[in-house]
Amino acid sequence: MSSYFGFPPLGTRVVACLLAGLVALGWASSWGQAPTAAFGRDTQMVDLTPFVEVLEDPGATLGLPSLVEPDLAGRFEPIDRSSAAGAFSDSALWLRFRLRTASGVEQSPLLVVAYPLLDHVELFEPVEGGFRHHEAGDGLPFRLWERQLRHPAFALKPTGGEERTYYLRIRSSGSLQAPLRLWSEGALLVALEREQLIFGLFLGAMVIVALLSALLSVLMRDRLFLLFAGFIASYSLLQAGLSGLAFQFLWPEATWWASRANPLLVAATGSLATGFIREFLELPVRLRRLDGLFRRLMAAGAVALLVITVADAGLGILLSLVYALVFTALAMTGALTLAFRGFRPARQFSFALGAFLLGMLVASLSYLGLLPYHAVTTHAMQIGSVLLVVMVAIAATDRLRQLQQAKALAAESAQRYLKALNEELERLVRDRTQALERTNAELKDLATRDSLTGLLNHKATFEQLEQLRRTAYRYREPLAVVMTDIDHFKDINDRFGHLVGDKVLVTVGHLLLQGVRASDVCGRYGGEEFLLVLPKANVDTAVELAERLRQQLASVNLPELGRTTITASFGVAEIDPLAESVSADAIIRRADEALYTAKRNGRNQVCCGRPLATAMPRPFKPIAASGGSAAAKPPPV
Ligand code: GH3
Ligand code: MG
Ligand code: MG
Repeated sequence: MSSYFGFPPLGTRVVACLLAGLVALGWASSWGQAPTAAFGRDTQMVDLTPFVEVLEDPGATLGLPSLVEPDLAGRFEPIDRSSAAGAFSDSALWLRFRLRTASGVEQSPLLVVAYPLLDHVELFEPVEGGFRHHEAGDGLPFRLWERQLRHPAFALKPTGGEERTYYLRIRSSGSLQAPLRLWSEGALLVALEREQLIFGLFLGAMVIVALLSALLSVLMRDRLFLLFAGFIASYSLLQAGLSGLAFQFLWPEATWWASRANPLLVAATGSLATGFIREFLELPVRLRRLDGLFRRLMAAGAVALLVITVADAGLGILLSLVYALVFTALAMTGALTLAFRGFRPARQFSFALGAFLLGMLVASLSYLGLLPYHAVTTHAMQIGSVLLVVMVAIAATDRLRQLQQAKALAAESAQRYLKALNEELERLVRDRTQALERTNAELKDLATRDSLTGLLNHKATFEQLEQLRRTAYRYREPLAVVMTDIDHFKDINDRFGHLVGDKVLVTVGHLLLQGVRASDVCGRYGGEEFLLVLPKANVDTAVELAERLRQQLASVNLPELGRTTITASFGVAEIDPLAESVSADAIIRRADEALYTAKRNGRNQVCCGRPLATAMPRPFKPIAASGGSAAAKPPPV
């Protein structure tokens, strides 16, 4: 079935113009008068193209009376051979056709100019005694149109079997073309209904995708989808503009704007599409040079379109065609280049754009009559547009999914990295803490140990004594201390040197430490003085221990000393845990006193002080080991 719709979108018109040139070259049609169109009672639609003749009026000065004169009447030529039809020019285009309606036709057939973008269409309908004048076109407010349809349409009076000649005059800032159809009212309504359904579906799909994209862009905070939504909205508006629906419904009064809306919408669509394609195909990183060209050309083109269209609608329309062509070529070049490099979104986009271009080609061919008119060819353009939009939407969603996957992967690896970093940090802290603890222990050791003998130093020994003293008093347990001093140590230093003296100190310290229990304390209290603290030991046990140590010491043979033996004197003191507590100082003083008693009594002996500070030190009679008594003079050291 033929379509009232016609609906030649901008691109289609460009392709159609190019193809028309080619077709005209090989067109062999005969000169002579065009045949007369006939409209019968059952006729639904007549395509008037074969019956139309054209005359270009370059100055737009001719009037109807002069056209009827034989001079001009003979200069009309068939529309197929006219170079004026389809051109962009300031000329007026005169169309002429002959029509005869059958005598039974009573209802007015409708003459439809199936191209909605003409500025001014005038019909001169022959009636008795002259011509009836009709007007339409978007240079005229829509309410003044004779029929409120998106295409100029005029009701013709049936000719009642007579042949009559009709004249049309068209002027427009855009392309001058006037596909004329004659419809019966009923058939036109049916065709209109079908068209409105298709166009409604088309626009509905576009609006849904645009809204979804806008929603997605908000949800995902992704500019890509906003650009896509903007592109679709602008493109849909452009389609509405090109179809005449925008003039009919959106700006029916705005005649100045009506002739400029389309090129401006081309600029807007191109700019938004450029933004979208650049981002979608990642042109700034993947094809830097083409991107620069693309961006600059499109921006400059859009500005030029804006300025020129405002100044001169006709020039703007012409430029918008070039703009659309350049844009499509650049977009396709970028997409194909990246597709060949294996970039998946580019492959998807190439298919989408390819489908769109194919749709445009098919629509153009059917518009030119080179392909038969039927539902698919007539609406190939819309089908291509929907395919483009849907495929790009799928591709964009795919890209979003990939981006999200990449984001999730990145987050995961960042988390892994962070965890590894944390573990490493923990390990480092642990190591450092251990090292610090070791150092601390070493420092503590250094602070509490005597470096020469390894025994507790003076301060630590005293602290231990203080602690054990408190415990002893608290639990009412005995506690004894033994103060030891090497006899005539100065002589050893003097005779054998300090190094040997040191060795003697180490030997004595070692021997003392070996001789006490683990719970006892053995410290170097002064130069050659040692202090033993014996918890839970009373004076007898302590004296016994001291005596044993004295004997062991006396039996030590150090090679460095030759025949000289080491002896030491011991002073023992104890506390009375049941009596009032005495200080650590007092205990040491007591042991010291006992020690000096031992020294005074001749050295190499154990002397024991009174418990607490009540008794004077008393000499202890040693277990006669070396045959000497407590008072015996020790062997010289
Ligand atoms: P007495 O029998 O009365 O205790 O006589 P003495 O010589 O042992 O006592 P005196 O207090 O006169 O001498 C102690 C000596 O110990 C003096 C000092 O040089 C020496 N001395 C102290 N500390 C060290 C040390 O770490 N190494 C060495 N080699 N000698 C030390
Ligand atoms: Mg001394
Ligand atoms: Mg001494």
